[in-house]
Amino acid sequence: MVGVRAELKALFGPRALLSPAEKGVYRYDAILVGPEPLAVVLPETREEVQALVRLARKHGLSLVARGAGSGLSGGAVPEEGAIVVAFTRMARLELDPVGRTAWAEPGVTTARISEEARPYGLFYPPDPASWRTSSLGGNLGENAGGPLCFKYGVTGDYVLELEFVDSWGEVHRLGRQAYDLPGLLIGSEGTLGLITGARVRLLPLPRYRATLMAAFPEVGALAEAVSRAIALGAVPARLEFLDPVSVNAVEDYLGMGLPRGHALLLVETDGDDLEVVEEELSLVEETAKELGARVQRAKDEREAEALWRARRSVSPALGRIRPKRVNEDIAVPRSELPKVVREIAALGEAYGLVVAQFGHIGDGNLHPNILFDPRREREERVWELAHEIARVALRHGGVLSGEHGIGLMKRAFMEEAVDEGTLEAFRTVKATLDPHGLLNPGKVLP
Ligand SMILES: Cc1cc2nc3c(=O)[nH]c(=O)nc-3n(C[C@H](O)[C@H](O)[C@H](O)COP(=O)(O)OP(=O)(O)OC[C@H]3O[C@@H](n4cnc5c(N)ncnc54)[C@H](O)[C@@H]3O)c2cc1C
Repeated sequence: MVGVRAELKALFGPRALLSPAEKGVYRYDAILVGPEPLAVVLPETREEVQALVRLARKHGLSLVARGAGSGLSGGAVPEEGAIVVAFTRMARLELDPVGRTAWAEPGVTTARISEEARPYGLFYPPDPASWRTSSLGGNLGENAGGPLCFKYGVTGDYVLELEFVDSWGEVHRLGRQAYDLPGLLIGSEGTLGLITGARVRLLPLPRYRATLMAAFPEVGALAEAVSRAIALGAVPARLEFLDPVSVNAVEDYLGMGLPRGHALLLVETDGDDLEVVEEELSLVEETAKELGARVQRAKDEREAEALWRARRSVSPALGRIRPKRVNEDIAVPRSELPKVVREIAALGEAYGLVVAQFGHIGDGNLHPNILFDPRREREERVWELAHEIARVALRHGGVLSGEHGIGLMKRAFMEEAVDEGTLEAFRTVKATLDPHGLLNPGKVLP
């Protein structure tokens, strides 16, 4: 290992190689913690990434790609003896407003793309709630979604071209044509290649927006309303929900007059034709009322912003109920939503644990959060419940992860979720693109 350190020092020096005292932070993502990595390197160019891959290969060491570490499945958490490749400093962004595209390096924070596109009347739709911290590399690694993804699609839908360094240290810059290797890398959680750049599509900003909040006496009725409104043809830009536990937590935190004990649906429609935007919102409004909701339309941008603030504040608000939580992430067919949210609420009660549910309900994507205090509640029980929730999703024809990925957290579940033939196909892909097992080993595949 002395040889490795000396080589790393020679290649990256104090500029790009962190000192032992600084490495500890890189054990974590936003949910799990692993051992301290052997080294942390912050490359600034693709050539440095190539050099690092070649060094790791020579010494048989593994490489764990890392963006902002906001992941919620342990994807960026290192294993013993791994080198973390933190892409924070590869953050160049070039806009092409005429072509409506942007070339971005992996360390670019998600929100920055839309912020820089805005003066040109453009935006970048994928908007994970973590967008002020998360990086494009991490978004690509997880194929991240967000509130706007119901109408606009997820990260992968915006990638025109992808550049990556493979496990031999070669660079590839490819479009989405035959064999669509970029498509294979998107969502592969750093296990197939190290992404060093992407050309993404930008869209014109819609001219109009309309927002409403619907308060339901019960969460199942809310899920029913979503399912029905979409079946009737509504395509809202954003469709988010908070269950009563989340609503009470946000109200305790912000005191903004939210209806305690109710489940909230937040809806935004957008487009260039005001009449259509209003009509679509009315469709959701009528359906919500039929199912017993009280509806409040935002009168202006300021009111709309206040409503969305409630959704954005769920995470800090829940942190005040219990110091720790496990953030589950499942997706189920929309028609199953009413049953699934009720079953999960009942499971929480049966386990005697606080479960708050919220998420991008338009996509059938739920984030049941299990809140706990390790001094009062046993962590094994929490993980047991998390696994039960994953099983609920599978029983209802859903998937293990809507957007946070498999990582370490759900790896053991792959055998329940995917048949053996498919798992074998996954292993073949991994063995072909990373035969040395260099890239993020121990993730995704059981
Ligand atoms: C409060 C909060 C809200 C969130 N809301 C959402 C949400 O609405 N939607 C959503 O989808 N997620 C959400 N997340 C989860 C997380 O923010 C996303 O998964 C995000 O895409 C991770 O980005 P990151 O830069 O932090 O990646 P990291 O956590 O650093 O890494 C994530 C994965 O990508 C891989 N990776 C990173 N960079 C590269 C690269 N250059 N090449 C190859 N692989 C790479 C890593 O190895 C890892 O497997 C949320 C998280 C938090 C804490």
